[in-house]
Amino acid sequence: MTLYCATTNPGKLREFRLAAERWSGHAITVETVPGLKEIEPPEETGATFAENAALKAVYYSRFAPGPVFADDSGLAVDALGGAPGVYSARYAGPAATDADNNALLLERMRGEANRRARFVCVIALAAQGELVETFEGAVEGELLDAPRGAGGFGYDPLFYYPPFGCTLAEASAEQKLAVSHRGQALSALFHSRFGSLSPFAPPKRS
Ligand code: IMP
Repeated sequence: MTLYCATTNPGKLREFRLAAERWSGHAITVETVPGLKEIEPPEETGATFAENAALKAVYYSRFAPGPVFADDSGLAVDALGGAPGVYSARYAGPAATDADNNALLLERMRGEANRRARFVCVIALAAQGELVETFEGAVEGELLDAPRGAGGFGYDPLFYYPPFGCTLAEASAEQKLAVSHRGQALSALFHSRFGSLSPFAPPKRS
């Protein structure tokens, strides 16, 4: 069974593939939408992760021979009123790198005592231009004042996860997936579509 995904983010893709393998052995494979890089991306005009995930999944499902899922995710920081939120990928500007975004976040958080933050992920599944279902997950943590670790991607080096006693960039890919926003959303997706296969983590549905 092939599930198509609509992402050009290599960090997300690695996590999707690891999750599919852990969930199903080799029964579910995750492929990117054929020709994804040549397809003009839709504008992410949604005000929420759910709206953006749904618009991406529906849009790209017209270009794939089977079901397509899209992930919209990001970091919500309490002291910043939930920012960067849906702007997480482009926090420091339209062409920002992870390093640029992390540097800006550190600057905005300098001297701030309230370090609470959460990663949020919504995954939308669509087929033939129609939304099928959405799934979500969230994980709570604290922002450090300097990066730690070389794993993961995005804001992981700044995101300290107290139950592990380290950042998500210091945790292994499997550890991160077992607790992360994306792991929870993927688990719910796989449980909903392929419930007879054994889960790697308790499912949580939106
Ligand atoms: P999207 O591609 O518009 O959904 O943007 C997602 C952005 O949120 C990424 O580029 C990262 O900056 C951030 N993000 C989402 N999930 C994670 C994660 O698991 N770790 C670190 N950063 C993440």
